[in-house]
Amino acid sequence: MKVRFLNPIEQVTGSCYWLQHEAQDIEFLVDCGMMQGEHGERDWNHRPLEFVPSRLKCVFLTHAHLDHCGLLPRLVKEGFRGTVYCTRETAELTKLILADAARQPGAPFSSADVEALAPLFHEPSGRLFGELHPFGTDLFFTFCRTGHILGAVSVQIVWGPKPTVRGQRTQRSITFSGDVGTNAEGDEHLGLLRHRMKPAFADYAVVESTYGATSRSPEQRSRAARVERLRQIVDRTLFEQRGVLLIPCLAVDRTQSVLLDLHEVFRSDPSRYRGIPMYLNAPMAAKVNGIYAEGMRRKELSRKGSLKPVWRARQLSSVFGLPDTPEGEKELEARLTNMLRGKSGAAGFTVHDKPIAQVIEGGAPAVVITGSGMCEGGMVMAYLDSLLRRESTTVLFTSFIPPATNGGRLLLHVQIPIEDRCRVSVHLTWADADPKRPMHRLPLSEMVAHIEKIDGYSAHADQHDLLDWLIWEYDGHLCLAGQTVFITHGTNNARREFAQAVQTRGATVGVSVEVPTKKHGWYDLDKGCWLEGHRSREAELEARVVELERLLAARAATA
Ligand SMILES: [Zn+2]
Repeated sequence: MKVRFLNPIEQVTGSCYWLQHEAQDIEFLVDCGMMQGEHGERDWNHRPLEFVPSRLKCVFLTHAHLDHCGLLPRLVKEGFRGTVYCTRETAELTKLILADAARQPGAPFSSADVEALAPLFHEPSGRLFGELHPFGTDLFFTFCRTGHILGAVSVQIVWGPKPTVRGQRTQRSITFSGDVGTNAEGDEHLGLLRHRMKPAFADYAVVESTYGATSRSPEQRSRAARVERLRQIVDRTLFEQRGVLLIPCLAVDRTQSVLLDLHEVFRSDPSRYRGIPMYLNAPMAAKVNGIYAEGMRRKELSRKGSLKPVWRARQLSSVFGLPDTPEGEKELEARLTNMLRGKSGAAGFTVHDKPIAQVIEGGAPAVVITGSGMCEGGMVMAYLDSLLRRESTTVLFTSFIPPATNGGRLLLHVQIPIEDRCRVSVHLTWADADPKRPMHRLPLSEMVAHIEKIDGYSAHADQHDLLDWLIWEYDGHLCLAGQTVFITHGTNNARREFAQAVQTRGATVGVSVEVPTKKHGWYDLDKGCWLEGHRSREAELEARVVELERLLAARAATA
């Protein structure tokens, strides 16, 4: 078995790993993602594929984010007819996200390609986590929950015949982390999702490192601190400023987490918040809410024979103040469904697929959750154009926003006192829904709204979480996700720092660390070495440039 790390190397989006089992002539991928908002995005998303899609037996999909699933329709467009193994929830979310992506200008696939992909998704039967499922002769895979978003798993691939004698080593294995979440056992601070699981030992682990150089503060990991900060922002906006709280939000996972926290704030004093209108102005998020509501109800028989929630956080009963009894459990399911569908009395909301004129024109106290978390277009812009010019408005961000986006500009320049803003030539710009009309421009000098950000909603593991996923203590011993660790899915700085942390933590158990570069080609997983003669395209080009330079120098010397 061999693996090639196509991406992300030195970057954080466009996840795609290509594996080949030469003896059985089988090829497959783990994830097939789109690059988003990074250098080389267009080149990657529209590149000639390195592999022949029709030769792929299957793809293992870790989760539904576009940077992991976004190029699956391209595979189908170019001949892939194999199976996409993933969880039921990942399949549902992926179909929704890809249908939306196909409608964006410059998409590398069409809606028809997304529809053609739909029948290829397959969730293995049997237990969802920790059970080996065959996908070829002496080839198996197993899933393990990562707690990143609903449906997200790591994938372990196992090859070789099953041992006939106990203790015999006839199989080898590699685990791909996918994206790792922040909720750990006993610390589900993002309220909805059940904690990440510990993966079974593998010879190799491929681990993401998006936040491999970051350590979050205890406050950023505290649910109570986050909800309290939200309460302060809600109260100040609605009761002191008497204005609109606008929350541009990611549709998957973030909207649901924010709704849960808003629910907690509103439920703490129902009479205080009664009559405050709340709008979910994000049709996509409303559909995701439906998938989350289903997921929260899903249960599975544990090895010990008891029914356990697959995705729902263990601590949710206490968040809702319900007893840990069968009756409490039933009530919790009903309340969660109501909350996600906007029918909860304390924090009910209505779903709208167009900007709400009375909010834009009136600016009376209301909470509005919209899509387009980066404020680069879409419905949120209709609100910003008007509400940013009002002191009564608060715009609340809940995720990382690249500085080169409108959301990023707002966050960067909000520190400038209003009287000094006229000296700064910063504008927000965005296209009108009608492409024939000119671009909108909103100068910073005219913005007087409050801009806030709450950290602590991130669904991405920091260095502490990633190390905990990789190496943990059990019964006085250190356990490992993988003996050899490949660090991918991060900037070079994040990967270097994380590599050092892994080496330090794993020193006593002989963990070795590989940081793949773009020059690396295939890695032989049976022999445990990089393969010569299988250089990557970049390495081949570089070698040709060196050769040409040598020829030119030789020619110049003889001229
Ligand atoms: Zn993700």
